[in-house]
Amino acid sequence: MITLKFGGTSMGSAERMLDSSAIMCDRAKDDRVSVVVSAVAGISNKLQDSINAAVSGEKLDTYYTEIRNIHTQICDDIAGQLKNFDKKSVMAKVEEILELYKKLLDAVAAFGECPLSIHCHIMGLGELMSSPIMEGVLKAKGQSVTLVDSRDVIFTTGNQAEGDVDYVSTIEAFRPYRDGKIGAESRILLFPGFICTWQNKSAATGTVYSMGLLGRNGSDFSAAIVGVGLNSRKVEFWTDVDGVYTADPRVVKDAILVDDMSYEEAMELSFFGSKVLHPKTLSPLAARNIEVWSLNSHNKAARGTRIGRGPFPSVGPVRGITCLKNTAMISISGSGMRGKTGIAARVFSAVSSAGVSMLLITQSSSEYTISFCVMQAQSHAVKSILTSEFELEIREDLINPIEVTENCAIVSIVGDGMQSKRGLAGTFLDSLASKNINILAIAQGSSERSISVVIANDDGDTAVRISHRFFFNTKQTIEVFAFGAGTIGGAMLDQIRDQHDDLYKQGIDIRVMAIANIDGMIFNENGLDLSNWREDVAKNGKPTNLDEMIEFVKQTKPLNPIFVDCTASYDLPNRYLDILKAGMHITTPNKRANTMSMDFYRELRATANKMHRRFLYETNAGAGLPVIDTLQNLFKSGDKLTGFYGIMSGSLSYIFGRLDEGVSFSQAVLEARERRYTEPDPRDDLAGMDVARKTVIIAREAGMAVELEDIKINRVFPDWFDDKGTVEEFLAKLPQLDDYFAKKVAELKKENKVLRMAASIENGKCSIGMLEVGPDNPLYSIKGCENAFVFHTARYNPIPMTIRGYGAGAGVTAAGVFGDILRTVSWNMM
Ligand code: ADP
Ligand code: ASP
Ligand code: MG
Repeated sequence: MITLKFGGTSMGSAERMLDSSAIMCDRAKDDRVSVVVSAVAGISNKLQDSINAAVSGEKLDTYYTEIRNIHTQICDDIAGQLKNFDKKSVMAKVEEILELYKKLLDAVAAFGECPLSIHCHIMGLGELMSSPIMEGVLKAKGQSVTLVDSRDVIFTTGNQAEGDVDYVSTIEAFRPYRDGKIGAESRILLFPGFICTWQNKSAATGTVYSMGLLGRNGSDFSAAIVGVGLNSRKVEFWTDVDGVYTADPRVVKDAILVDDMSYEEAMELSFFGSKVLHPKTLSPLAARNIEVWSLNSHNKAARGTRIGRGPFPSVGPVRGITCLKNTAMISISGSGMRGKTGIAARVFSAVSSAGVSMLLITQSSSEYTISFCVMQAQSHAVKSILTSEFELEIREDLINPIEVTENCAIVSIVGDGMQSKRGLAGTFLDSLASKNINILAIAQGSSERSISVVIANDDGDTAVRISHRFFFNTKQTIEVFAFGAGTIGGAMLDQIRDQHDDLYKQGIDIRVMAIANIDGMIFNENGLDLSNWREDVAKNGKPTNLDEMIEFVKQTKPLNPIFVDCTASYDLPNRYLDILKAGMHITTPNKRANTMSMDFYRELRATANKMHRRFLYETNAGAGLPVIDTLQNLFKSGDKLTGFYGIMSGSLSYIFGRLDEGVSFSQAVLEARERRYTEPDPRDDLAGMDVARKTVIIAREAGMAVELEDIKINRVFPDWFDDKGTVEEFLAKLPQLDDYFAKKVAELKKENKVLRMAASIENGKCSIGMLEVGPDNPLYSIKGCENAFVFHTARYNPIPMTIRGYGAGAGVTAAGVFGDILRTVSWNMM
């Protein structure tokens, strides 16, 4: 005999049920099988919702109709595909349950409350409807099948909705099935999961039997009980993923499928919240060495995960990471606890008498505090039971009022290989520290098979992702949020698209999560497909909205998000603080943020430091040339700037370079404009404002507290020249300047010098203007759009450090921004 369990995800539609039935038939070829089925996907939740609605007096017809329609539709669809499906008799059974559902729900509505026994009755109806449908399918496929009412064979005590199995009566009840007295003629024994008979033993009434449940997700446990009851050699859990992963694959996209794991590892994972199997499932199977498999009914070809008697080989010491959310930490403390025996025992027995199980316990070494976690829903009950248990001590101030910290998550690393392995806790805590996650408590399982931390609920997913990366050494991720996708932003996105595969091979997984431009914005939590991003934004973009993007980041909590501002926006930098506070790095070629007030400049850096995020702007001066990073390293290592000269504008480099080649000033400006080296109005370049901004940025980088207004800009034009008017008027007047410049250039030539429009920092003063430079000055040969940055420092003396090269253009600037994006990876590894 083998036992198969099909969860809601394998029972979600006619197709799913037919696929699942094919697996049952296949397995029934070699062996007798027992099958446990869940309710149709989503039905248990709908039943719960309808109970809540009935209690609060809401309308109930929609629930009833919806649940009825789902089952009717499934039966119709099956009938359409399976000739011998006896829809009429199956639907008659379903209708009978629906009739009961209606009566029970109406009763709840009439009383305005739902006692636990009625709750259990209603919740169990999902499985009572799904199982006759599966019976009909199997019969139509010619299988001999017996549908067994699980209430006749599984008995519990304790909590009616989440009972403890009474193995003595249960194993006894299975005897006729086991011994072949009942159902022997059938190849398949079919059981509805989740439901059982609850026995309420009381001296006054004797034992009362009523419908009970095995807890939410309890069909897994049903399958284990059936497996034990029928002496199965193997139990297979069929679900919608390929097996058990190193972490919840919905949270960690690159979680790794585990081939084999020990019972103990799987038990620990499910105890600490891994949804893959109900926590009570494994222990009865482990006790009897029954082999367990987790398999995918949507992908029969996958091998699945085997759970059995370990140890099994593993790549590292950790087998899996899991997170149990919505827990509360209860702390009991006070001077009266010191050295006093029996306090812990009183705490534990009070909590257990409330029927609550503790998930994790820690005690401070001074014996002043005992803390433990329970599910949040139970925290009020625990607080009040402890408050009355220690009423006297609290009144005498020997014990402080019971403290409850709500909204906690327990994140655990689990693995047999963790035993006696050093440094794991360190790595675990380091991973959380790298994301600034605060730890409320730490506990290690006594078997050394798990280490758990208690953190804020909201940090749960991030904690799982980051620790998964540390332990399983998977790819370094970068999540890009591109704001502004014009010339530079667009080129950058194309570069990311083209480089993605190469970077991936090198261990960097770069994903663009959002693109926003004037056409609109698009998002994808798993990363956008960039093959046609321009069309996608134009076609599917919703209105661009920064707040919505920030909200998206807060919701999805990417591990290493970077906001890329490729806009020319004047106002957007005002929002950089909000963006950093949302947990994103920022990179931008936009010079605005770095040239706003010194106060803002400092606040930006302080916020980035506080948030452990980076503000990067390598392209603010010299586009792709490595200026900023070089300077930062220079000054960090203790060097000092003593002087600076720079040609930091491609257009000015071109225009002044043409002058020494004998071209007239007006001609040089017109050429530069025709070649689009200048702005449409060349005065924007000649006025030196853009160069002034770059100068401020370099000066500030060197530690000077300067404002943009402090930069002295010396006019290029002589005083008598009137540079007002429209662009056309200005261009027409330019030849008036030709003689003036020609004369200057000719005189300089006699001294073997040239004229350059450059920025200078000398004696703590910054200025922009024309310099007369000889061949010993590195700026002498700079022309034809080339940029040059000449740094005189304490160490680079007397020969300055010069960085020169092409300092503009979408391609190189985009590559500079891309370089900044990649810098966040090494930062995160630190
Ligand atoms: P079923 O309806 O078959 O019982 P569940 O939805 O209860 O299925 O459980 C399967 C789900 O458990 C998967 O879809 C997966 O998202 C989730 N899950 C959580 N942690 C893990 C893990 N470590 N490995 C595999 N699946 C996991
Ligand atoms: N249908 C029940 C639930 O959703 C039991 C199960 O599917 O495991 O909780
Ligand atoms: Mg389940």
